[in-house]
Amino acid sequence: MGKTLLEKVWEIHKVGSISGGRDQIFIGLHLIHEVTSPQAFAMLREMGLKVLFPERTFATCDHIIPTDDISRPFADPLAEEMMQAIEKNIKEFGITFFSPESGKQGIVHIVGPELGLTQPGMTIACGDSHTATHGAFGSIAFGIGTSQVRDVLATQTLALTPLKVRKIDIKNKLKPGVYAKDIILYLINRLGVKGGIGYAYEFAGEAIESLSLEGRMTVCNMAIEGGARVGYINPDQTTYDYIKGREYAPKGKEWDKRLQYWESIKSDPDANYDDVANFDAHDIEPMVTWGITPEQCIPVTEKIPEPKNDIDKEALEYMKFKPGQKIEGTKIDVAFIGSCTNGRIEDLREVAKYIKGNKVAKGVKAFIAPGSMGVKKQAEAEGLHEIFMEAGFEWRNPGCSMCLAMNPDKLVGDQISASSSNRNFKGRQGSPNGRTLLMSPVMVAAAAIAGEVIDARKLLNIK
Ligand code: SF4
Repeated sequence: MGKTLLEKVWEIHKVGSISGGRDQIFIGLHLIHEVTSPQAFAMLREMGLKVLFPERTFATCDHIIPTDDISRPFADPLAEEMMQAIEKNIKEFGITFFSPESGKQGIVHIVGPELGLTQPGMTIACGDSHTATHGAFGSIAFGIGTSQVRDVLATQTLALTPLKVRKIDIKNKLKPGVYAKDIILYLINRLGVKGGIGYAYEFAGEAIESLSLEGRMTVCNMAIEGGARVGYINPDQTTYDYIKGREYAPKGKEWDKRLQYWESIKSDPDANYDDVANFDAHDIEPMVTWGITPEQCIPVTEKIPEPKNDIDKEALEYMKFKPGQKIEGTKIDVAFIGSCTNGRIEDLREVAKYIKGNKVAKGVKAFIAPGSMGVKKQAEAEGLHEIFMEAGFEWRNPGCSMCLAMNPDKLVGDQISASSSNRNFKGRQGSPNGRTLLMSPVMVAAAAIAGEVIDARKLLNIK
């Protein structure tokens, strides 16, 4: 009987078995940011411990950094304090920091892949829920809490409970105007926000294989929103082509050696899965959330459903929607393109392709926060920023921005945003009664232009 990628990578990185049915797993790459690391470093200091392998930890700042004025000190004293804390910690513990001055700063899940740090067959940990993003390369990537950040810093290992594997097989290719974001929203709708608890999701099938590496990252990014601890995709030529030549990618003979390893950790054709779920990409339409969890979503062409449970009733009340109401035509106040889900260069290229010659509707605040300084530089080299600004979008600096609004980018009152981020929880975008509609970046751009939710295929003539 063959093995899954998860089983192989787990076995290779297993240091030993510990209490409670858990395994101690070696972590190859540790990524940190300014919000979940200060307490972890404080705990190390209290215990008189060092970082065991400082060369395996890399830091950036993303959550609190403003996307307009990044001159120091930051206007928000708390943000400035967090920035100073990470600057002090990386110096004291000898860790590489992708600071704004380095020209490499950005959202942790965008920076790791774009610098070539994220590679197949690795175990990766980061004190952030959306770490599964890195699974797009065929790595096993865990989002962890602050005390586990401390554990990884001190021991380079984590105590983890083995996971079951559900293969999610999606046949056929996506239709025009349907994107990776629509795949993952559709899957969460079908399998539920709790459907993945106890599982790793292995995404497979023609719909996944035909995605770029960037699209694959969008799918894996939201595995956690479906309850799965980990999401991954077997590596292939698309993966290797993406990694080759990047700053931390292996070079020369080391490349050949690693390639052999990467090929060896793919799931075997006769691997045994704990569950298999089959879908057809032809059934997927551009999706829009109408509620307060990513599961509460519908194709843009459909009407808001009758409530099936208390959380649906709560969502309708919070969102001020009525069952039977069309989601298309919902007026928006804000359009946000960015985040670790959809703030990559491919997302920006796709938006620029379709918005050329259009203008943002009056009264809509539309802005784009590129995922990293690398993405920003590339977009500007291609002149994309000019297309965005000409259309009426604000062109910002990199950071998490309005994905979670721990920075000045926030909704006000009960404003509605069309957002390319990953969470539509109550208050997520900075206002306790702000309302978030998740969708693909092209759908956000279409909403910005129309001033309301609209089928981008219709408005932008996508065929
Ligand atoms: S963009 Fe959003 S989801 Fe991603 S790391 Fe930042 S806050 Fe978390």
